[in-house]
Amino acid sequence: MTPFIAPGATLGDGPQATPFIAPGATLGVVGGGQLARMFVHAAQQMGYATAVLDADPASPAGLIAHHHIRCDYLDPQGLAQLADLSAAVTTEFENVPARALALLAQRRPVAPGAAAVAICQDRAAEKAHFERSAVPCAPHAVIESAGQLAAVREDLLPGILKTARLGYDGKGQRRVATRAELASAWAALGSVGCVLEKLLPLAHEISVIVTRDADGQIVHLPVQQNLHRGGVLAVTQVPAPDVAAALQQRAVDSASRIAAGLGYVGVLCVEFFVLQDGSLVANEMAPRPHNSGHYSIDACDVSQFDLQVRAMTGAPLCAPRLHSPCVMLNLLGDLWFDASGAARAGGPDWAAVLALPGAHLHLYGKAQPRAGRKMGHLTVTAASAAKAVTVVREAAARLGLEGW
Ligand code: ATP
Ligand code: MG
Repeated sequence: MTPFIAPGATLGDGPQATPFIAPGATLGVVGGGQLARMFVHAAQQMGYATAVLDADPASPAGLIAHHHIRCDYLDPQGLAQLADLSAAVTTEFENVPARALALLAQRRPVAPGAAAVAICQDRAAEKAHFERSAVPCAPHAVIESAGQLAAVREDLLPGILKTARLGYDGKGQRRVATRAELASAWAALGSVGCVLEKLLPLAHEISVIVTRDADGQIVHLPVQQNLHRGGVLAVTQVPAPDVAAALQQRAVDSASRIAAGLGYVGVLCVEFFVLQDGSLVANEMAPRPHNSGHYSIDACDVSQFDLQVRAMTGAPLCAPRLHSPCVMLNLLGDLWFDASGAARAGGPDWAAVLALPGAHLHLYGKAQPRAGRKMGHLTVTAASAAKAVTVVREAAARLGLEGW
C-alpha cells in the first residue's frame, strides 16, 4: 500500500534517500515557460538560486532566473553548463527529450527521472501503465500501421484519434465517427503513431496532483474539477463541486498507485474523466506541475511549485491544506482581441478585475498575445465556494470572458 499523509500533516525529518539540498544552492529547470517561471518564484522564495535552460531569450522563466542558458534541450554544452550550475535538476515540460534528462542524471539528481518522463511522453505507454496500475482508462487501440488501422474494432467509434506523442491543449487530435473519417484523420495527422480512444460520455473532468519523494512518501493537493473549452483548460474549481468525496478519494488512490508504480520522484498530475454512469477513467498524466494546480499558489498553504522544490531537494514533504475555496480562470491571448480580431486598446481591463475581493492575477510576462496562447491566470479565493463563484463570474464579465 502507498503511504498516505493526512492534509496538514508533515512527514517530520525521517531518513531521506537523497541528502537534503539546502537553500543557497542553485536549482536547475529544463524548459522556461510559465510552469518554470512559477517554479522559479517558489525556489527563490525559499532562498535557492535558479538556472533555466530554454532557447527563447524572452522565455517567461529565463527572464527572472539567476541564470538563463539559451540553447536547445539536447545541446551538450548547455546541458553541461546546467549540470555545472545546479545541485539538482527538474523539468517543466513533458516533451523534453528523455535523453537530455538521462544525460543530466549522470551528473546530478534529476526529478522526475527520464524513464518516468518517457512513459508520460507516449499515450500508448501511458495507457499501458494505467492498466498495470489497475486504473481504468478509455477503451482504445494503438495505430502505427495501415494493418492496425484496418483492424480497429468497430466499438471504438465514434472516437478521438490522438497522436501518441507531442500532443497538448487538444492539438494533434481529431474526432472521428466512421472508418472513412478515421482513415483520413490518420493521414491528416501524418500517419504517425496514434491512439484511437472511444468517445466517452463525460459528466465531469477532475485532476489530481500528487508529489512523491525518494522514500516513497506521497502527498496530494485537493482534487480539482476542470472545465475545458476547445480542448484547452478554461476553469478549475476547488473543492470539486460535483464529485462525491468517495470518488475523489478513489482518484487520489489511483494517482498515488500510478506514481508509486513509476518509482516517481516529483510532482505528477493525473487527469480523470467522471462518466455519466459515475465511473472513473484516467485520461492522461503530466510529469510536472499542471495548469489545473495553479490555484494552489493562492488557495493552499503549500503550492504545487513548493512541492516541486521540496521533492527535488529532498526536503520533507508536507500535505497541502486548502485554506480558501477558489475558482481559477485561464487567461488566453484571445482576451487581448475584440470579436473582430482587432487588438483591444490598452489590453484587458486589469484594474477592473483587481478591484474584486480575493482576485489574484498572474501574468507570465509573455510579450506577444496570440489567440489560444496561455498568457496568465486569475484565481479568486473567498470564504465560501459560492462567493468565489459569484466573484469569478463578475471577473469573467469584466474581462469579456465567456461565462460558464
Ligand atoms: P492537455 O495537454 O491540455 O491536457 P491534450 O491535448 O493532452 O490536452 P486530452 O487531455 O487528451 O488532450 O483531451 C483534451 C480534452 O478532450 C479532454 O480534457 C476532454 O474534454 C476531451 N476528451 C479527450 N479524450 C476524450 C474521450 N475519450 N472521450 C470524451 N472526451 C474526451
Ligand atoms: Mg488533457
